[in-house]
Amino acid sequence: MSIEVCHITKTFGRFVALRDVSLTVDTGELVALLGPSGSGKTTLLRVIAGLEQPDPGSGPIRFHDEDVANCPVADRRVGFVFQHYGLFRHMTVRENVAFGLRVRPRRLRPARAEIRQRVTALLRLVQLDFLADRYPHQLSGGQRQRVALARALALEPRILLLDEPFGALDAKVRQELRAWLRRLHDELCVTTVFVTHDQEEALELADRVVIMNEGRIEQIGSPDEVFHCPRTEFVMDFIGQVNRFHGRLENGKLYFATLAVDAPQWTDMPPRTASVFIRPHQLEVELARNGQPALPATVEHIHSAGVRVRLDLVADCGQRLYAELSHERFGQLGLSKGSRVFLSPRDVKVFPAPSTSP
Ligand code: ADP
Ligand code: MG
Repeated sequence: MSIEVCHITKTFGRFVALRDVSLTVDTGELVALLGPSGSGKTTLLRVIAGLEQPDPGSGPIRFHDEDVANCPVADRRVGFVFQHYGLFRHMTVRENVAFGLRVRPRRLRPARAEIRQRVTALLRLVQLDFLADRYPHQLSGGQRQRVALARALALEPRILLLDEPFGALDAKVRQELRAWLRRLHDELCVTTVFVTHDQEEALELADRVVIMNEGRIEQIGSPDEVFHCPRTEFVMDFIGQVNRFHGRLENGKLYFATLAVDAPQWTDMPPRTASVFIRPHQLEVELARNGQPALPATVEHIHSAGVRVRLDLVADCGQRLYAELSHERFGQLGLSKGSRVFLSPRDVKVFPAPSTSP
């Protein structure tokens, strides 16, 4: 079941929460909505679910070519899981998962035995069959979210909408559930839209990532595309850690900090200011100048308790910088706090200002 959202605007009073948002999610795809708090992710999810009405003048919302504008929430067959699980406290795990089926109108309700069978299968799917008779307070946060997901799946939704489902859990559990959700999705292939403000979660989990900012979509792309080819400054800044400089483009040269580097692709443009970004792993760290343009800097802090070593540095021009290198390279350089180094950018991402600056 595909989802198509066309030119949706949503205002609350005078506040514009969504501005002309268009998005297509293919059948069986897992798409992440990623953006800072307040960027409109939940609102978009609620509009898709039918829990919010878009402003008049917005385009249609289609599920598999069918306009669902006048389709009541209950008939959209959308499964929804929120950050705060909202399981029924007085019901066991099994009763929670069965609930949606039990309260169906008699003519749509499966027979008791069938409900039991279906719930058992679902609990096995989310690997909680051994906890079927426990109550929510006897479960961990991660287990509760898996119950919430099983409860949503019990109604055989055509579309699954997850709003920061792992947001309240600690890092290790989040990571496990992430991998688990990906496997579950590969097995079920239910079209899924997943909201998160955690870029790592989005990049690891999703087929495609939708990056939102102030009610607008900044970029839609595969995790690879949004990480390696950010289309806007916002995306560059939001995804991954980055060093940012104010620069200037003039006659095919890019000036930033104390560097001047060739920028042939911008030769034909009148001079203008530009935002310059360098990822920490794209800064080459050397003990001496090697003929490349390089910023002299001092090591301020070393974080070596990770897969890669991260350095906090201060360039002689006063700018703070972050660099990242392998433990092997770090060992070769023999760096310690206060070491003097030269940083040369391997790759620079430039966003020229839109108009000529004075
Ligand atoms: P996100 O999920 O990305 O954090 P939301 O979609 O929840 O963002 O909210 C986007 C903006 O819309 C926020 O500034 C929020 O305060 C506002 N908003 C959301 N729902 C309502 C509402 N029912 N009434 C008024 N403002 C709202
Ligand atoms: Mg939200």
